[in-house]
Amino acid sequence: MILMEELSRVAPPLAVIRGTNDLFVTPLLLFGSDELKRKYVPPIARGGEAFGAHAMTEPCCGSDVAGIQTRAVKKGDRWVINGRKIFISNADIADYIMVFARTSEPQPNRRWFGITAFIVEKGGTPGLKIGAKFEKRGGLRGGSHAMEVIFDDVEVPDANRVGEVGMGFIIAMETYDRTRVGVAAQALGMAQAAFEKAFQYSLQRTAFGQYLASFEAIQFSLAEMMAELMTARYLVYLAAYLADQGREEFKYVASLAKFYTTEVAEKIVSKAIDVHGGGVGVIHETGIERFLRDVKITEIYEGANNIQRLVAFRQLVRTLMKKGIVSQDIARSIT
Ligand SMILES: Cc1cc2nc3c(=O)[nH]c(=O)nc-3n(C[C@H](O)[C@H](O)[C@H](O)COP(=O)(O)OP(=O)(O)OC[C@H]3O[C@@H](n4cnc5c(N)ncnc54)[C@H](O)[C@@H]3O)c2cc1C
Repeated sequence: MILMEELSRVAPPLAVIRGTNDLFVTPLLLFGSDELKRKYVPPIARGGEAFGAHAMTEPCCGSDVAGIQTRAVKKGDRWVINGRKIFISNADIADYIMVFARTSEPQPNRRWFGITAFIVEKGGTPGLKIGAKFEKRGGLRGGSHAMEVIFDDVEVPDANRVGEVGMGFIIAMETYDRTRVGVAAQALGMAQAAFEKAFQYSLQRTAFGQYLASFEAIQFSLAEMMAELMTARYLVYLAAYLADQGREEFKYVASLAKFYTTEVAEKIVSKAIDVHGGGVGVIHETGIERFLRDVKITEIYEGANNIQRLVAFRQLVRTLMKKGIVSQDIARSIT
């Protein structure tokens, strides 16, 4: 998390490239066979030898993961995948893609069931096409592109299946529980950079014969930024610590960290621009307005923030149910 924070403090797109590798590697480490782990993790872990991507989102469905329409049909010991994914980060540079596809129809009381995860190698796989590159609101332009990926009778061996058939939704959720802490850390790094720039500027720039930092309004603003930064950092590190300890609570703390940090970071960057004043704050050369463009995206990907609010609350109820504090009936009716 500290690495993600520091990368984002200087070059947010680098953190996205790294974070997208996590989206490939995490489900593999949690659910993949030893053979798959040995084959696909080391080239990514060595750094830059290979890149991974994670293909879940489709035109129909982003937050509604259970609704995806890409299909995989078993033929002998192979699966044939057909469908279209959008906004897939790193798809242009990725060597391997973790793809989620429906392998059976959703069941009325278990809509999530029937999705399966596969590793598809990008190079030389017939039927796999990288389509449109989506132009973003200016943010995160330094190397990580959100792409369309098309599967047209793409064949993968059953050996490339990650986890059990039909359990892809759970695999994805367990993955996002962990990787979303990294998105919070991205926003934290951007907010830290914006604060540092505002602080330094307030000690250089004079108005009415005084440093900006001598005005109470500027001091208040910088103090508020510090409080928000420290609160956000505490949440991010707490989520990471709880995950390291294998504690169930990490899941709801991770969601709290994701929505709180990304939203407070947007506020911090905006306040930092205000400290710089109109022109200096918004011109490219100052290097601060880019953080406003970059940080907005962290509120959306790896689970839009409304979804984080839902996940945080429901995970809290589930955790309390497991501890016997909330009854199973009440917990099931809520979650
Ligand atoms: C730059 C970028 C990179 C991305 N990279 C990847 C990637 O590598 N792989 C990948 O698979 N996807 C990727 N995505 C897609 C991203 O994960 C989705 O955009 C995100 O999950 C939201 O889905 P959506 O855009 O379809 O919004 P929708 O699901 O249509 O949601 C729209 C709005 O409605 C709200 N909403 C939806 N459902 C509910 C609900 N039940 N309760 C309350 N509010 C709700 C959401 O919070 C949101 O504000 C990327 C997106 C971007 C912008």
